[in-house]
Amino acid sequence: MENRHKIGLRPRPAIGLGGVAREGAGSVPQPAPAPSPASRPSVMQAPVLVLNATFEPINVTAVRRALVLMLKGVAQAEETNHSEVHSTSKAIQVPSVIRLLSYRHIPQQSRALSRKNILLRDRNTCQFCGEALPASELTLDHVMPRSRGGRSSWENLVASCYTCNNRKGDRTPEEAGLKLRRRPRPFTLHTSRQLMRLIGHRDEKWRKYLFY
Ligand SMILES: [Zn+2]
Repeated sequence: MENRHKIGLRPRPAIGLGGVAREGAGSVPQPAPAPSPASRPSVMQAPVLVLNATFEPINVTAVRRALVLMLKGVAQAEETNHSEVHSTSKAIQVPSVIRLLSYRHIPQQSRALSRKNILLRDRNTCQFCGEALPASELTLDHVMPRSRGGRSSWENLVASCYTCNNRKGDRTPEEAGLKLRRRPRPFTLHTSRQLMRLIGHRDEKWRKYLFY
């Protein structure tokens, strides 16, 4: 039952680009007065695909941050959508895909360890019985229980339904007669792409960079 308690992970954005400059909020352009006022607040929060200088997709960010990177000369727009935002002096097309102008080394382990990302990795499927469930009906299970030194890590946390989680209790899967569907792993490049596709599935312009 110990495993049912929420693990001490801080909620963080699903994907972070560690190392990209922190923005100074002062120069952020505001959304232009749009014909449909209902869409205005979401414009700055819309997802933007971030490519490395080599066109490799590395991240997803929000329009607001993408514009900061563009204004700082760190990135340029590769694809834009139909709306515009206005800074003090000029109108800028809202980016849909941006590319960093200089190559950035992305460490393999840059994905935030979070409940959301683990559920995404495990495709909302209990890793013991294989049932796909809504996020609200899944918990995170420490494969090696915390009471026995199991850590909160990509390799030791899996999505689990409450039934399996209760059945397992303070035991290892073997002791509880449960079998893991697959060995839990950190986000790989493959997982990241899947995540980017999930986020960007509505944006046609992302496709050619994500190869699907
Ligand atoms: Zn289960």
